Amino acid sequence: AESWNEVPLAPPDSIFKLTAAFKADQFPQKVNLGVGAYRDNEDKPWVLPVVKKATSVLLNDPNLDHEYLPITGLPEFTSGAAKLILGSDSPAIQEGRVTSVQTISGTGANHLGALFLSRFYHFSPEGGRKVWLSDPTWVNHFAIFGNVQIEPVTYPYYDPQTIGLAFKPFLDTLRNAPSKSVFLLHACAHNPTGVDPTRDQWKEICDVILEKGHYAFFDCAYQGFASGDLDNDAWAVRYFVSRSVPLLVCQSFAKNAGLYGERIGALHVVAPTTEAAARVKSQLSVLSRSEISNPPAHGARLVSLILNNPELFNDWKRDIETMANRIIEMRRELHRSLTEELKTPGNWDHIINQIGMFSFTGLNAEQSKAMVEKAHIYMTGNGRISMSGLNTHNIRYVAESLDKVVR
Ligand code: PLP
Repeated sequence: AESWNEVPLAPPDSIFKLTAAFKADQFPQKVNLGVGAYRDNEDKPWVLPVVKKATSVLLNDPNLDHEYLPITGLPEFTSGAAKLILGSDSPAIQEGRVTSVQTISGTGANHLGALFLSRFYHFSPEGGRKVWLSDPTWVNHFAIFGNVQIEPVTYPYYDPQTIGLAFKPFLDTLRNAPSKSVFLLHACAHNPTGVDPTRDQWKEICDVILEKGHYAFFDCAYQGFASGDLDNDAWAVRYFVSRSVPLLVCQSFAKNAGLYGERIGALHVVAPTTEAAARVKSQLSVLSRSEISNPPAHGARLVSLILNNPELFNDWKRDIETMANRIIEMRRELHRSLTEELKTPGNWDHIINQIGMFSFTGLNAEQSKAMVEKAHIYMTGNGRISMSGLNTHNIRYVAESLDKVVR
């Protein structure tokens, strides 16, 4: 019988490992700042009230069945999702140049986008089959592109000195990369740093991308979650579309609708013409068919209701504000405790300047380890903390512990 002796044991996923260690810890004041999911002030998962409402609409629908969806997904979902990210008055949508396919959340959108490029993108002989990822980025990006034989390489993004954007090295890399390179950009709320370009910086990035004929692969996992405003967080994508940058967008409803386990997302490819969009759609459909046959229905139905019913859409905006504002409040409070109460050495302004779920504290590997081992505050070795793990009950303890490890 096959013994699989030659299969090497893979290391456990670091985030899941961190969560397991947190669960096993008996310390009463333990804190989990590793999670990439929203928690309310009581440290509980939050089912959005709008999702509860939409669920009850579905439950009361006598015609609801469990038939297969079309291969490219629920049409009312994909059209609503495209308007959400590109804008309801988007000329690209009106001109029929946008192809949208329902995917297995943001991860599936990244995968399908990468697979599509792997099959059909004209990688230049000079540049080779490469994708440029920000250093650092969501670690899964490396595996997702590697799986489809596109080599991940990195561009400078984060400057540890300023705990901010390494803007000039980033621009230089855009300029020096071979023409027609593929650059992955986080649309908003960069994971893991929480550092986003300003609008002026996005404009310069866009200029260089156009000049060099690069392709923009946008990953948008946090629309609305970053600033609390859906349109605001879509600004960079919409700006790039308005300047006719060739691009695609990976969209997730995991965080902004709290639908993590429902695996609901979409891939949008903005093509130069209606004909090109139709050709792209036909191939995305073939690819998706071979991998998942057709996507899951429940999350698509929920999001479709929310996007297409004005009352539910308003409820959703309110829920998004609730989440974003709690996180922004935690940023302010952590900053205040460190700077005003504890007079912790160093500058902590990045805590309030960064945006979204995560914050790069600037803690080094040794200090991050001390947070886990001495204070029972679970965080990744790169100094990243999930702001949603903070609440009014634990923030003082977290601030005091941070203060201790940096002194
Ligand atoms: N892209 C980024 C940058 C992320 O941070 C995440 C989730 O953490 C995803 C994509 C995909 O998430 P999901 O597949 O749950 O939508």
